[in-house]
Amino acid sequence: MVVADRVCKNFGALKVLRGVSLEIERGKVLCLIGPSGSGKSTFLRCINHLERVNAGRLYVDGELVGYSERGGKLYELHPRQAARQRRDIGMVFQHFNLFPHRTVLENVIEAPILVKKVRKKQAVERARELLDQVGLAVKADAYPAQLSGGQQQRVAIARALAMEPKLMLFDEPTSALDPELVGEVLGVMKDLASAGMTMVVVTHEMGFAREVADELVFMDGGVVVEAGPPRELLANPRHERTQAFLSKLL
Ligand code: ADP
Ligand code: MG
Repeated sequence: MVVADRVCKNFGALKVLRGVSLEIERGKVLCLIGPSGSGKSTFLRCINHLERVNAGRLYVDGELVGYSERGGKLYELHPRQAARQRRDIGMVFQHFNLFPHRTVLENVIEAPILVKKVRKKQAVERARELLDQVGLAVKADAYPAQLSGGQQQRVAIARALAMEPKLMLFDEPTSALDPELVGEVLGVMKDLASAGMTMVVVTHEMGFAREVADELVFMDGGVVVEAGPPRELLANPRHERTQAFLSKLL
């Protein structure tokens, strides 16, 4: 579902991604860990068209992200084509980014109606199913400010799912939550994984990574330092930098 081949991203002179290579199979969960500033968010943002890679190749579902390739040369995609690619990717951020003046239901139906031209009745039906799936059917008419952080994040997940994405990206989805609210969000994510969603999750929740991830990737300094099945990597990190990072977490 995702292939990153030596992906590089600079901000001016700052080299943030220095050749990230990894693959995520359809239906699998990859957890991405690493110190602050190592480029985890930038990598997710490249997958989701929020940043443009400077070098290397990034593919989602077999398509080059943001470019077309002809005769070995890359051409930027027309914005309409880029938008079409982006529609199929859901993203959930640390800060839930719900529309504050819209109800929960309105938040969830907005993109399907505006972007996918789904009819309102159908969008509402699907939104209610999704809110039920994240345990918030009763909050459909509440406003974000009336919800806990954990509830807001679950709405954000439902909102992303309303676009029927083939890939979900999570950028530290529980980092802004009070500890007692983390579990309910991870629970929803775990259900989603069990249902076969392909997911890339940046997280510091090693319990989740160990239990749910198929692949754990440790990034540092803009490269993948080490990757493998979570239990193996957590029990036997081979690289000094991985060991140092994990010892600070646990
Ligand atoms: P992580 O998510 O692993 O903490 P980020 O991808 O957010 O790391 O950031 C990696 C580096 O890139 C940091 O040094 C950050 O300051 C820098 N950076 C991220 N976005 C931008 C930007 N839009 N402009 C300039 N520098 C940026
Ligand atoms: Mg980040």
